Amino acid sequence: MAEEGQKRRIAIFGSTGSIGTQALEVIRAHKNVLEAEILTAQTNADLLIKQALEFLPNAVVIGDETKYEQVKDALSATSIKVFAGENALEEVADFDTYEVMLTAIVGFAGLKSTLKGVKKGKVIALSNKETLVVAGDIVMQQAFENRSPIIPVDSEHSAIFQCLIGEARNPIEKIILTASGGPFLGKKPNFLVNVKRDHALQHPNWSMGAKISIDSATLMNKGLEMIEAKWLFNLKPEQIEVVVHPQSIVHSLVQFEDGSLKAQMGLPDMKLPIQYALGFPERMKNDFPRFNFKKYPSLTFEEPDYKTFRNLGLAIDALKAGGNKACVLNAANEIAVWAFLKNRIGFLDITAVVEKTMDKISFIENPTLEEYYESDGEARNFAASVMKM
Ligand code: NDP
Ligand code: MG
Repeated sequence: MAEEGQKRRIAIFGSTGSIGTQALEVIRAHKNVLEAEILTAQTNADLLIKQALEFLPNAVVIGDETKYEQVKDALSATSIKVFAGENALEEVADFDTYEVMLTAIVGFAGLKSTLKGVKKGKVIALSNKETLVVAGDIVMQQAFENRSPIIPVDSEHSAIFQCLIGEARNPIEKIILTASGGPFLGKKPNFLVNVKRDHALQHPNWSMGAKISIDSATLMNKGLEMIEAKWLFNLKPEQIEVVVHPQSIVHSLVQFEDGSLKAQMGLPDMKLPIQYALGFPERMKNDFPRFNFKKYPSLTFEEPDYKTFRNLGLAIDALKAGGNKACVLNAANEIAVWAFLKNRIGFLDITAVVEKTMDKISFIENPTLEEYYESDGEARNFAASVMKM
């Protein structure tokens, strides 16, 4: 953590995405205590350049090497170091010059750089849930060994983390993750079969990147979050419940052994959990909009529709099975969501592809990191072949 009077230096991996840009808004609102040290993008060179010129980080990474010259030229009047290519993410993650790594890259692609940050003992503000879904045992073990604190950014996990403050001696009976239900809450398969990309991208409460928006519509996001919660809070599958709460005001709950429930609430605004993670353990004063009870006369809760949204059941199967099952589920889902976004498969096909891939790929009980990479690759290839791409 930064010394008294010094700014906390933040490395944002995936600064051009939904979480990344909101993190920069948080930094902008707290310039006296936070500064951007590293920014990374995959293809969006224009936005990366704009961000770099405003926040003047020590280094930037553009994943797409063909855009290196563009970024280098645009930043030539500054002292910002410019890197390009996939390996550059690990290179800058190895820097000593930042304190907090915000993992805001989407998907499996975020795993390597996160592991590097963990090995360096950095504070990890973890947004990239896929990292824990794929290799949660290895990431958490490495974090323990290297004393790398993991502060969740995902709103549900941030809520649980906040509810657990001061409760170290009190075991958790269970946690309850809230789900908005997404844009298709209450819909049945005869409707979902015809759903198109643009409709699925419209989330009622949150504005997010494309992949997580589709995951929210299929409820896979909640399944991934159950697995994320298992690793973050060291829980058994039966201690993790999901309840649909369409208003997204109660961000999640913890039930203790005396039956008492603690919830964390607030407006659905990712800037809040991002700011909490970047400022932890302090709550930084801000002027973001406040919750108003008059606008929310009722908060409602209902059971998820497991029969229609079968991804949730598949994720629970992976959660219970352990080993490489969740890694396979994630890889197949990434491929299927990508295909859906390209209008190559239908909405319900996403579940079919994930299910077939989970049935096909061999189970490994205690995978090494290399085996997780292999399982990811095999699952992607199989999922692609199922879709005949
Ligand atoms: P976006 O798609 O909006 O942004 C992804 C970021 O990662 C962009 O900066 C993108 O660069 C970069 N990126 C994409 N692919 C690669 C790659 N292969 N290698 C390196 N960088 C890459 O995603 P979100 O911000 O929505 O989500 C980020 C993570 O946070 C996800 O894991 C998601 O599940 C999680 N999360 C998001 C929430 C939200 O509200 N958005 C809420 C809770 C969790 P470029 O712009 O150049 O493509
Ligand atoms: Mg969430």
